[in-house]
Amino acid sequence: MLEARNNAQHVYDALTSAIVEQALAPETKLPEELICKQFGVSRHIVRSAFQMLAADGLVDIRQNRGATVAKPSFEHGMDVLRIRMELEDVVVRYLAGNLNKAQAAQLRESINKEHEYIHIDHALYMRHAYGFHRSLARMTESKILIRYLDPLLSQSSLVLYLYGRPRWTKCNADEHLEIVSALEAGQEAKACKLMRNHLEAMFQRAFSDTAKDETTSLIDVLERYAKVS
Ligand SMILES: [Zn+2]
Repeated sequence: MLEARNNAQHVYDALTSAIVEQALAPETKLPEELICKQFGVSRHIVRSAFQMLAADGLVDIRQNRGATVAKPSFEHGMDVLRIRMELEDVVVRYLAGNLNKAQAAQLRESINKEHEYIHIDHALYMRHAYGFHRSLARMTESKILIRYLDPLLSQSSLVLYLYGRPRWTKCNADEHLEIVSALEAGQEAKACKLMRNHLEAMFQRAFSDTAKDETTSLIDVLERYAKVS
């Protein structure tokens, strides 16, 4: 039983990463059989993982048509971004003056990876850019905040993929550094302002155009993500 749950969690984690890192486009079909094969698990496990992804708003499950990567409407997307912004404001208020040295070092290390990958690997760049926001939420140790913010962070990636401009859906790593410094110094108002400006700038950059990039094949993506996590 425990093994089944761990396996479902593994498939869930891997597919979440693939969606957040924009390796899987909205509306991509997720055939059960193919996923069973790639992850070496049963249909039951894959269906459990789909249910978890659907609860996060990352996958749509339709009877007789199977599962696809979700395609949020523009209105829903705007709602996601607006509420994410408010919750990240709460995150910053929790952390201002409460970030310890090890946490600050961990965040800076992750920001270095953003700089490292920004021009060479889009998925790895996305992993660290979103990882920054996710880590901040985790550092609050507020289960409620994590529970509500996590799916919004993941869904933001889909929203920016759908309605954003290619290669402009990025966070700015230097702004992340400024946020960490303000949090460390206990400058709550400054940190809140930096985070809000950071998210507003990201959304503005993203929504100034709507052209799209091509995507790679589903099998290539599943092969990569079945291995990593
Ligand atoms: Zn960011």
